[in-house]
Amino acid sequence: MGLGFYLSVAMLPVMIILTVIFMLKKKVVNVETNIYRYILITSIIMTTLEIVSAILYQSYFETFIYNIVAKFVLVSYIAANYLFCKYLMSICNRPQSRLKLLLVSTIVLLIITIFSSTKYVVTNGSVAPSGIPVILTFGYAIVLGAYQLVLAIINRKTIVSKKFTPFYIFLAFGAINSLIIYLYPTSFMVGYIWCLTIIVMNFTIENPDVKMIDMLNIAKDQAEKANNAKSEFLSSMSHEIRTPLNAIVGFSNGLVDNDKLDSESKEDVKNIIMASDALLELVNGILDISKIEAGKLEIIDTYYSFPKIFDELVLLTKARLGEKPLEFNYTYDKSIPEYLYGDATRVKQVILNLLTNSVKYTNTGFVNFRINSIIKGDVIRLIISVEDSGIGIKKENIDKLFGRFERLGVEKDTTVEGTGLGLAITKKLVEMMGGKIVVQSVYGKGSLFTISLDQKIVSGSELEKLKKEESSKEEGPSLFEAINKKVLVVDDNNLNLKVAKRLLDPYKCDIECVGSGFECIERIVSGEKYDLILLDDMMPKMSGKETFDKLKEIPEFSIPVVALTANAISGMKEEYLKYGFNDYLSKPIEKDELNRVMKKYLK
Ligand code: ADP
Repeated sequence: MGLGFYLSVAMLPVMIILTVIFMLKKKVVNVETNIYRYILITSIIMTTLEIVSAILYQSYFETFIYNIVAKFVLVSYIAANYLFCKYLMSICNRPQSRLKLLLVSTIVLLIITIFSSTKYVVTNGSVAPSGIPVILTFGYAIVLGAYQLVLAIINRKTIVSKKFTPFYIFLAFGAINSLIIYLYPTSFMVGYIWCLTIIVMNFTIENPDVKMIDMLNIAKDQAEKANNAKSEFLSSMSHEIRTPLNAIVGFSNGLVDNDKLDSESKEDVKNIIMASDALLELVNGILDISKIEAGKLEIIDTYYSFPKIFDELVLLTKARLGEKPLEFNYTYDKSIPEYLYGDATRVKQVILNLLTNSVKYTNTGFVNFRINSIIKGDVIRLIISVEDSGIGIKKENIDKLFGRFERLGVEKDTTVEGTGLGLAITKKLVEMMGGKIVVQSVYGKGSLFTISLDQKIVSGSELEKLKKEESSKEEGPSLFEAINKKVLVVDDNNLNLKVAKRLLDPYKCDIECVGSGFECIERIVSGEKYDLILLDDMMPKMSGKETFDKLKEIPEFSIPVVALTANAISGMKEEYLKYGFNDYLSKPIEKDELNRVMKKYLK
């Protein structure tokens, strides 16, 4: 018996133990561990067959049983080669078509090997198998080996290069083995080299700790649940906050026009309005971000007047400048057409946020607001830039800028109000509208925010229609009296009813208030006549929508119904109009919006 025989006998129990340990260990099933499992089993079979064939050779050479065992030794070589090559191809992400080619050629080779006869050549007292199967088997091993070498070279600098270690070891052992065979010709055996390679491979295959992965998954699930719970909580809290806020804004707006108040009290009321406006902005921000994250925020495109939006933005920014000694420059490209098609509310919101930030984070110097454009066919690309000479942003903070609740370097400066939500919302909205936002900033010197946004140009008959609408809107006084008109307000919250009443008082109409959908239906059924119904949606027992459905069932019911809700997320208006409501008012009710509705239905 040669040296190879004893080495193989020594290796066999090691392989069996390694295989048992590997099979029993809880592991992640992936391509690597899956192939490795088969490689282990093949190694045991190959080594056992080689040992048996060496023993049989002693007294049963060239008998049927010897020939069968010798043939299966060849089969095991082919299988091992196939698996090893498949393993390397898989970790290198070779295409499936190549893996299929490998499989098909291996099957063909196996069939030829099994069905053709093997010869044995005895030279110098040693025996070596020969014939077509042997030539094919070794030819196959050489071709695959060369291919694997190419793979190793291609991937020498990639992350998988480490996993080629067993392959190099196999080559090195193969060279040593050739030397042994040369010195001791009866020692032709490869099983033990194969086993050594496989032992090394055990350390290079990806076999992450299953327990740790389970724990990580649990932690991830918990974090996701907590994040969802937080978003839901924020969303429902914001909604709840809007209701009392509605009362604060409504009553204080009513008070500001009250002639009985002295100037000092009026100033106080103005401060209340300012504070509640800020609170409303915050609540809206939270509602927006929760909606965006839940994928429920929609971009609603309409026709809008571009100069009007620009003027509003300038006015709002001027109001925010207050006493700050800042130079505010603004200009826009006069080739921008008057009417555009896009989500005007969101366009205004994102620009206003940049302008507000520039005013907030700049103490001296300037704020420049510019809109340039590039026209391509019926699409216009607006290049909106807001530049300031403010505190600037540190390089390392630029990446964090658009994260939620990220406030940078303002921890110590508590006088600058903010939530860190503005830019997160801005970026998401800009992207939802198909645009891009970029920032350039030098810490201590200032920042430049640029948004590029495509909008459609309006032309032809649509443009004529819009112009007509615009001119008709401008006629007539803003406030009017609706004497002899009767309005029914339906809301389960008493405070809200009082606010609505206060806001409706200047119109001098007849106002009736009820606290539920049931009472509303009762009044209509009993024959009461109204000119307008303001109907809150979120009511217990019977919602506004349910009430509306019941109202429509009443024969000859034709009173305009306006939905009233604290659910002020964008897209709500369209949803209520689609449902059949004549109009929509969000709470806190804005004076201008109320005036628009009153004019439309009572004038
Ligand atoms: P907020 O202004 O409510 O804190 P934002 O999301 O709008 O939240 O902005 C996030 C942070 O980015 C701000 O806290 C501020 O540190 C920084 N930032 C935004 N705009 C500017 C600017 N124009 N100049 C300097 N820093 C800015």
